[in-house]
Formats: sequence, C-alpha cells, structure tokens
Amino acid sequence: MRLLLFGPPGVGKGTQATLIKNKYNIPHISTGDILRQAISEGTELGVRARQFMDKGELVPDDVMIGLVRNVLSSCNCENGFILDGFPRTVAQAEALDAVFEELNFQLDAVIYFQVDENEIISRLSQRWTCRVCKRIFNEAVDSIDRNAACPECGGDLYQRDDDKPEIVKQRLDVYNQSTMPVRNHYEKTGELIEINGVGDIREVYDRILVTIEK
Ligand code: AMP
Repeated sequence: MRLLLFGPPGVGKGTQATLIKNKYNIPHISTGDILRQAISEGTELGVRARQFMDKGELVPDDVMIGLVRNVLSSCNCENGFILDGFPRTVAQAEALDAVFEELNFQLDAVIYFQVDENEIISRLSQRWTCRVCKRIFNEAVDSIDRNAACPECGGDLYQRDDDKPEIVKQRLDVYNQSTMPVRNHYEKTGELIEINGVGDIREVYDRILVTIEK
C-alpha cells in the first residue's frame, strides 16, 4: 500500500495517516514531522528549515528532495508507506517520480482532501498537539481544554507556531501558488483520488478505506 496524502494544511492528513498507518502497519512519513523533530533536536537541517517554517514558507526544494530520497531509500517500506506533506511543488513531484523509478516503487493512490478554505482556517486555529504522544486534537470537536494535559497520555498540549492566524494565511497562499499545481501532475498520471475531507474523523476515514480497498 503506497499512498500519498495531498491537500492544503489543516485538512486532516496527519490524523488520517495515523489511522491508516495503524490499520495497515506501514510507516507514516510526514516531512513536516521530520522537520519539526530536526528543529527540536537543533540539527543543521532544523536550523535551516526553521527560517522558512516560522514564516509559513516552503523549505527549498533541494533540501526537501534530498531528505525524502534518503528517507525512502532507508525506510522499512517493503509493505508500503504513507507519504504526507511531500511533494509540495511540481519540482518535488517530478523528483519523486525519479526516486520511485530508481527504487522500483509504484504509487497506489494519491489521495486529495477537499475542504473549504474557511473550514481550514477554523480547524487550524483550534488545532492542539500533544508534545509527548503527538496526538492532534481539535479544541471544539474533542472538547479539550488547551490549558489542561493531553487526555491520552497526560503530556503538554501546544499550538504549532505556524498555526497562528497570520502564518496560516501565508501557508494557504503558498499552497495555492506552489502546491496546487501538483494536483494537475497527479491528475495527468491518473493517480489522483479526491476525497471529501469534511465530516468527522471516522466518516472521512471510512471514505478513504472504501477508496483504497477498491
Ligand atoms: P506540515 O506539517 O506538513 O504542515 O509542514 C509544516 C511546514 O514544514 C510547512 O509549512 C513547510 O514550511 C515545511 N515543509 C513540510 N514539508 C515540506 C515540503 N515538502 N516542501 C517544503 N517545505 C515543507
């Protein structure tokens, strides 16, 4: 099962990836998570990436392509993987095609999440993540108190710096300008499957399962 999850920030890619990962027992490769981990460890990659992420901009293609090539060449991906957050530019999509060819991988589906922009802005402003178990909560839907501990593991909850309103606007602009054209790339290859991303988590998950099981 080789899946690529694609769509604007805040459509639920990370949440759905966790559910799919648990069902099929395949790695979830999130470039955003890899970069945030690098930032928290203070590595060279983290220091470089932070300058862009803090502003809601994309980390340069050469950095991201090298990173994903390394991860895919060394991951435990025999049974498949879920790639989330990559590619975000047409250059990244073309480079990914080349990496897949080198590694003799073939994608099964590119799942595109369709959610209205106002809904995205509202979801991102209510998104809180646990520092320990990394679970993502929506303040309204999950009825959590942002000042309390994580209901799953007792860890600290935090709001991502790039989920603050002014940065969210910039991320959506970047998405519309640089990432949206990637959709055409996968439309042309016939791999794109559009999923309605509105509804509760299970509802969206069921839509994905029906599609990928086909
Ligand atoms: P995410 O967690 O996927 O929303 O990613 C958070 C941030 O990490 C993005 O706003 C970018 O700054 C950076 N990032 C993640 N993936 C990529 C990518 N494929 N290309 C460029 N920047 C990325």
